[in-house]
Amino acid sequence: MTVRKSAPGRGATKRASRSKAPAATIAAAPESTAAEEAAEATPPPAIGAVDGSLAAAEAATVQTSFADLGLSAPMLAALRDAGYVHPTPIQEQAVPLALKGRDLIGLAQTGTGKTAAFTIPIIERLLDGPHRTRALILTPTRELCVQVEESFKKYGVHSGLEVIPVYGGVGYDPQVKALRGGVDVVVATPGRLLDHLEKQNVSFDELEVLVLDEADRMLDMGFAPQINRIVAQVHAYRQTLLFSATMPPEVEALARKYLRKPVVVQVGRRSGAALTVQHFVYPCPKEKKSALLTELLNTKAMDSVLVFTRTKHGADRVVRHLEKEGINAGAMHADKTQGQRTQALEDFKSGKVRVLVATDIAQRGLDISGITHVINYDVPQQAEDYVHRIGRTGRAASTGDAFTFMSADEIAMVRTIERVIGQQIPRISVPGYDFGT
Ligand code: AMP
Repeated sequence: MTVRKSAPGRGATKRASRSKAPAATIAAAPESTAAEEAAEATPPPAIGAVDGSLAAAEAATVQTSFADLGLSAPMLAALRDAGYVHPTPIQEQAVPLALKGRDLIGLAQTGTGKTAAFTIPIIERLLDGPHRTRALILTPTRELCVQVEESFKKYGVHSGLEVIPVYGGVGYDPQVKALRGGVDVVVATPGRLLDHLEKQNVSFDELEVLVLDEADRMLDMGFAPQINRIVAQVHAYRQTLLFSATMPPEVEALARKYLRKPVVVQVGRRSGAALTVQHFVYPCPKEKKSALLTELLNTKAMDSVLVFTRTKHGADRVVRHLEKEGINAGAMHADKTQGQRTQALEDFKSGKVRVLVATDIAQRGLDISGITHVINYDVPQQAEDYVHRIGRTGRAASTGDAFTFMSADEIAMVRTIERVIGQQIPRISVPGYDFGT
C-alpha cells in the first residue's frame, strides 16, 4: 500500500527547473510554446483544435525517449524496470506540459498509457518538498483507484513517496490511521473520501495537484455533488489535470469550472476505438448466445477473455453456464463484495480463471494486461460504452479481438455504434448460430 522507503534519495533528485516554487506560482502559466499558445487560445469545447492525429503522434513517439522528456534518473530507472522503452503518444504530449505546471485536459481512453501520463509528472514534482498531502487523484471506481495506486508504486519505486488508496466497501479505520499518519498522495473514490474529509481525517490545505481521472465516468456515476464538495476544500492555486475518454457537455462544464487555461491533449479520434483491436459481430439469437460463447471458447485460442453482460443476473447466469461446461469463470459486478471482486480480478490476472464475466462496473480503468479477447455478450446500450469496453483489449499496442454477439433486437444499436466509431464491423456467421441457420 505504501511506496515509502525512508527515502535516502528523496530530494537528491531535485531539478532546478522545479525548485521549491510556492504553490501560488505553480498555476501561473510559464512561457508558452507556439503549440501551447494555439491550444490555450482554444477553450475546452473546441477540443478538435488540437486533435493530434494518432498516426502522427505514433510516428513521433518512435524518436522520443523518456530521457527526452526531461525526467529524473530515479524515474528513468523505474520506467526501465517497468519495461517501457518509449513514451506513448499521450505521455509524450502530456508529461512535458504537466511538468511545467500547466492544467491539462487529456482526452484519452484507458489503454493509452494515460495513468503514467499524470503519475510521472506528479512524482517528479513531489520529489521536492515537504511530506504533506500534495496530490489527490479522484477516480470513479475502486478498481481504478487500486490501479492508479499501483502505478504510483511502480513509477515511484525510487521516490520514497507514500500513497494510499481510499475507497468504500472496505474497513474505515485503517484508512483513518493511514490518512492521519500523513501521506504524499491520496488516490480516492469521491464518496469515501468525502466521509474522511467531513470527519477531518485528511486535510488538503497543502494540495498542489488535483487529478480528475475518467471524469466522464465519474459524472455518469452521479459523483458531481461529491466532486464539487471535495474541490471546494482545495485551494485555487493548484494544478488540475482532467482525463476523460469523452467530452460531453457535462465534462466541458467541469473543466471550465476547475481548470485554468488548460492545454488540451488528445490521442486518437474523439470516439475512436483502439486501433489495435479487431472487431467482429456475431449475429446470434438471444437464446443461443451462451452456447455460442462455449463454442468459441472451446474452438479458439482465447486465453484471457473478458465478457460483458448487461445485467448482474446475466453475468451470474453466464458464469453458471460456463462452469457447467467445465470452463473456469469468475463474475464481477456491483452485488459482489469488495473481497469477492478483488479475488475475481486476481484469479483472472493470474490466469487461474480464463473468463471474467462483468457488468459495466468493470468496463473502465481495469488494467489487466494480456487480455486476448473482449466479448460483448449483450450489445452495449451506449456507443461510447462499446469504445470503453473494447479498450480493455489491445492495450498499449498489443493486439486483441473484440466480439459482439448481436441478437435481432440489437441490430439497430450495432449500427449506431458503427456510425460513432466510423467503421463497419465485419460480421461472422457461425453455422447453427446465425439467424435462420
Ligand atoms: P493506462 O492507459 O494508463 O491504463 O495504461 C495501459 C497499459 O499500458 C498499462 O498496462 C501500462 O502498464 C502500459 N503502459 C503505460 N505506458 C507505457 C509505455 N510507455 N510503454 C509500454 N507500456 C506502457
